[in-house]
Amino acid sequence: MTASTTANRETMGFQTEVKQLLQLMIHSLYSNREIFLRELVSNASDACDKLRFEGLHNEALFEHDSELAIRIFFDKDARTLTISDNGIGMNRDEVIANLGTIAKSGTREFFSLLSGDQQKDANLIGQFGVGFYSAFIVADKVVVLTRRAGEQADQGVRWESDGGGEFDIEMVNKPARGTEITLHLREGQDDLLAGYKLREIIRKYSNHIVQPILMKKEEWKDGAQQIGDEDETVNQASALWARGKNDISEEEYREFYKHVGHDYDEPLAWSHARVEGRQEYTQLLYIPKHAPFDLWDRNARHGIKLYVRRVFIMDDAEQLMPLYLRFVRGVVDSADLPLNVSREILQESKDIEAIRKGCSGKVLGLLADMAEKEPEKYAVFWKEFGKVLKEGVGEDFANKDKIAALLRFASTQSDTPDETVAFKDYIARMKDGQGKIYYVTAETFNAAKNSPHLEVFRKKGIEVLLLSDRVDEWALSYLTEFDGKQLASVAKGGLDLGKLEDEEEKKTQEKKAGEMKPLLEKIKASLGDKVKDVRVTHRLTDSPACLVADEHDMSANLARMLKAAGQNAPATQPILEINPQHPVVARLQAEEQHFDDWAAVLFDQALLAEGGQLDDPATFVKRINQLMLEMGK
Ligand code: ADP
Ligand code: MG
Repeated sequence: MTASTTANRETMGFQTEVKQLLQLMIHSLYSNREIFLRELVSNASDACDKLRFEGLHNEALFEHDSELAIRIFFDKDARTLTISDNGIGMNRDEVIANLGTIAKSGTREFFSLLSGDQQKDANLIGQFGVGFYSAFIVADKVVVLTRRAGEQADQGVRWESDGGGEFDIEMVNKPARGTEITLHLREGQDDLLAGYKLREIIRKYSNHIVQPILMKKEEWKDGAQQIGDEDETVNQASALWARGKNDISEEEYREFYKHVGHDYDEPLAWSHARVEGRQEYTQLLYIPKHAPFDLWDRNARHGIKLYVRRVFIMDDAEQLMPLYLRFVRGVVDSADLPLNVSREILQESKDIEAIRKGCSGKVLGLLADMAEKEPEKYAVFWKEFGKVLKEGVGEDFANKDKIAALLRFASTQSDTPDETVAFKDYIARMKDGQGKIYYVTAETFNAAKNSPHLEVFRKKGIEVLLLSDRVDEWALSYLTEFDGKQLASVAKGGLDLGKLEDEEEKKTQEKKAGEMKPLLEKIKASLGDKVKDVRVTHRLTDSPACLVADEHDMSANLARMLKAAGQNAPATQPILEINPQHPVVARLQAEEQHFDDWAAVLFDQALLAEGGQLDDPATFVKRINQLMLEMGK
């Protein structure tokens, strides 16, 4: 940032991204300019919440005025509109950081969506709001006066900008704490200088704001509209979640979500309930439509706002939701917790545990309902948050079965990874005599779909689940069965197809195995400690060989994943299975001179086919070339 100073006044440059954003605001036509007020009111409300929270531990911050409110007034002659609050306020450093740069998620996301097309991008602003900077949609000059709660009157800060590349900042006197934002309206925005118009916008977007939004009463006097001295509350100013469900419109639920979820989009679904019993609380929980950019940052604060008897206590109370439901947004209002509850207390509280259980149950119920009644909506949810939900299988033992029922997987009947089945559907179309749910894990959908381990399943028409999310292996290690049906990896242990096996087939195979014994032993000796065993396969129809893990060993896929993540994986020794029907294997039986090369190639190609990496690719290539030359002879 560049700075130039005269006395106490300083001029600073905006961060580059802010400049871009402001350019866009100023030079486009807006489909929805009214959202500026929603953004400024939302910030004022957040500021009041913050003061309420800090004030719980430091009464002095209230400066003997604990009636938090937001005020809006306009001056027709000056053509200004002012939004003020007596919330937490900002000091100089905070003003520079908060109103000079972009740090927050919403705006970053906004930037990632910009197309470069003025009209399209302008519409995007309409949807997003992009926070404080929305003020420049309707104003060509914005003045912010603010003082942080608890500071002296002379610690006020005045910020001013015309939305160009710079802003001015200076220290001023401000007796009242909080923030006052004055918008000098652009040409053509004069319709905003009317009480009824502002009231209409406030009721449309900010009705659910908990603090009262006050405006001067207007009355008819001497045949004209006069603005009086008395304040009146324009919004409903009651906690939305505390109202009866029948009193709340869908629209109100949606607008409230945008505020609590800091989202520009509509929610996918919500659940609103008052819970009575050992713990009494109200919860209003939302499932978003799309994942936030920091979904995978397990340290990011996320979640639910906690209130106690309508008093805001804290944002992102992560104790209220298990980690695998970290995408849920909303409010929990407890009737029993003490007002001075802190994060530390929350961590240990049995009451909170009961609330968390109740809330997880509600969310899982909401999802189960959606999966059953609105499968298309559920597919949207699954695509965005499925991977996170899978963590729940290993995290929430009490709800393991409920979570398992919500899982979706691609299968050998899917053409794309997005075509998924539930365990229930899989079981419904299991073959007669099929006792197990079969799955294969691999690093990608295609690797799983084309895995040689599937050959016999394909031949017999048995469906196999294709697992290619990183979290799958880990999650399934906690899930051994579903609805009484055992889950079995097709790449592990001796394959037992039970009743699906054909007696004839079995006999020929056993006979083959006997005949092959000398060859198997020769291969094993040749490969040395690369393999745990070499045996005849029941899995392959088209490929000459494949690798499998012993029943209780770690799967090769999981070992590879752990290694890639820099973790210690126990050295696994796979079992090499050979297909006696394959011409390459027949050819091997006759081979003498290059037997070791043939055996090594057989092993390496089996490893490659399942997505593994060769220890020594150069030697593999050399061997292949050599074998190709041999064949040409
Ligand atoms: P967001 O509200 O998503 O954080 P905004 O652009 O709306 O982003 O606001 C940026 C930041 O400026 C806020 O996070 C807050 O710290 C600060 N801020 C804005 N308005 C106020 C206000 N009225 N009182 C105190 N701080 C404010
Ligand atoms: Mg904001």
